[in-house]
Amino acid sequence: MSVPSAPSVPPRPVHGPHREDCPWCGSRRLRPRPRLRDPRRHPPVRPGLDRCRDCGHAFRNPLAVAGADHPAVRAGFRLRHVLAARAVFRRCPEPESWLDVGTGDADFPHTARRWFPYTSFDGVDPTPRVLRARAAERVEEAHVGRLTDPLLAARLHARYDVVSLFHQLERVPDPRAELAAALHALRPGGLLLLDVADPRRLRALAPGHTPHPAGLATELEERGCTVLTAAQDPRLIARKEASAA
Ligand SMILES: [Zn+2]
Repeated sequence: MSVPSAPSVPPRPVHGPHREDCPWCGSRRLRPRPRLRDPRRHPPVRPGLDRCRDCGHAFRNPLAVAGADHPAVRAGFRLRHVLAARAVFRRCPEPESWLDVGTGDADFPHTARRWFPYTSFDGVDPTPRVLRARAAERVEEAHVGRLTDPLLAARLHARYDVVSLFHQLERVPDPRAELAAALHALRPGGLLLLDVADPRRLRALAPGHTPHPAGLATELEERGCTVLTAAQDPRLIARKEASAA
C-alpha cells in the first residue's frame, strides 16, 4: 500500500507584513534593531524588534503571526516565567483564576503551576496551539482568538484574579487596545502582570526620569490602576482598582 504524498500547498508564512508605523503612537520614525546575523545566510528564527523614535515602543516587525517560537527562544523564557511567577506569588499567593494572554503552548501556566497548584489557569491565543495546551492539561479553558474580540471580551469580563501578558504588546497590531482588553478581563482588585521585551517602557514613573511617552506604568495609572512594582523592576505588576476604567 502506497503512502499518499503530501499535498503541494505553499508553506504557511511565518511572519506578517512589515509595518511602517508604530502600533502605539502611529509615528513613522522607526529605528530598526540591528539583527544578530546576516539574514541572507541565516533566515531569522524570529523577527527583530523595531523601536519607535517618538514614543519608545519596541515591537516585533514584522508582527509575528502563527507559529511557535524557536525552542531556544522558549528556553530563554523559562527563567523569566519563574521570576514572574514568584513576583506574583509574593503579592497574591492564592489566586483562584488566571488568564495568560498569547499563551501559545501555555509554557507560562505550566511553569507557574509549581507556585499555584490550586489556581485555575486559562489561556487565550490566536492559534490552535492553545487547544493542544488544554489537551495536555496545561490550561483548563482554551480560547482561540484575540482578547480584543468583543465576543471573547464579553465572555471573560471581570473573571480573573490575575491576567498575564508575556511580550504580548510587542506582537499585536494595537497594543493599547490589548492592554485595555486585559484590564477588562480582570476583576476589581485583580493583578495585571506585564513582561515586555524592552523594560525601559516600564520606567515612566522613576524619580528623576522624564515620564516616557509610552511608559506603561503611566498608562496604567491613568487607567485607574496602582503599580506595585519598583521602577527598576524588569516586569510590571499593577492592581486594578475598583474605579479603574
Ligand atoms: Zn510610537
